[in-house]
Amino acid sequence: MAIDPVEGGRAGELLIDLGALVANWHDLCERHQSGPVAGVVKADGYGLGAAAVAKALASASCWNFFVAQLSEGIALRRALSQGPMIAVLGGFPPGADGGAGLTPVINTPQDLAAHRAAGTRGAILHIDTGMERLGLDARELGEAGDLSALGLRHVMTHLACADEPDHPLNAVQARRFNEMAAMLPGVPRSFANSSGLFLGEAFESDLARPGAALYGLNPTPGHPNPMRCVLRLSVPVLQIRQVRAGATVGYGATWMAKRDSRIATIAAGYADGYLRALSGRGLAVAAGRTVQLVGRVSMDLITLDVTDVPDLAVGDRVELIGPEQTPDAVAALAGTIGYEVLTALGARYARRYITA
Ligand SMILES: *Cc1c(COP(=O)(O)O)cnc(C)c1O
Repeated sequence: MAIDPVEGGRAGELLIDLGALVANWHDLCERHQSGPVAGVVKADGYGLGAAAVAKALASASCWNFFVAQLSEGIALRRALSQGPMIAVLGGFPPGADGGAGLTPVINTPQDLAAHRAAGTRGAILHIDTGMERLGLDARELGEAGDLSALGLRHVMTHLACADEPDHPLNAVQARRFNEMAAMLPGVPRSFANSSGLFLGEAFESDLARPGAALYGLNPTPGHPNPMRCVLRLSVPVLQIRQVRAGATVGYGATWMAKRDSRIATIAAGYADGYLRALSGRGLAVAAGRTVQLVGRVSMDLITLDVTDVPDLAVGDRVELIGPEQTPDAVAALAGTIGYEVLTALGARYARRYITA
């Protein structure tokens, strides 16, 4: 007997609209006339599945991908054939990709020395312009001397405050990047992340590196989201119970029914990345109505007050993330950012991909 991947309808399902994702990529390409737009698919494609995401982008002729770690790069090369660039932001020692044809990002003078000694060609050099996290600083770049033997594919830097357009560090980073990259004549530049693509001409380069905006997160916080929604998370109702006024629900008895209530228990919890910080705060959409999460988020379950949704039944699906409860909105309720909501999405959800 075949095993139902969604456990006979009793597990959460992530519906991922690859058509919307590719449309988001095309929109960003439209905005970035100075050069191509890569796909950043680190952390398993921000939780949506790096292989599926990258294949969809590659069929739309996205030719450049970024991951954070070597293991991600090796897995992605297996999913994509030879051809597209797969760059590893955290770098790796010469030869450590075992012939997968990955592109190392050189972040430190030590990395640089190792790749020079090994005769690596076509790496990406990361220079720091204000993040103070990874990358060579101006002095280290000056001391590096002539790097032409490396045949650098790109010189890149990363913005610290791109989601705050008025932050003075943005202009400072643009100026420093221009000055430092000028020491590497002829080497193509890679600059903007998602929000950087909305900062204007000074942030254009030969290769943009958006992640978040591809997945539908808002790259322009405080303004309407220009990106399409890519994700719906729906979770089945396991049980609906009548709870008397005065009864408490869940661990710690933190929520007490003020009236006779109907409580729906659904199959997702903090082990699925539904953050425990959403206890008593989360919202869901049940039969077209917004309902309140009550009590604490447990490991595998959450409870919703569905008193005002009388037609909701066991087995129905409740939407935890979607166009009406965007990852950014969920994040705001949890006191975090959409990036964390997406990358926390659990392994127990069945990921189902649609292309339209
Ligand atoms: C994660 C990352 C990106 C993508 O950033 P978004 O804000 O998701 O667009 C680009 N460049 C580097 C170096 C990164 O670490």
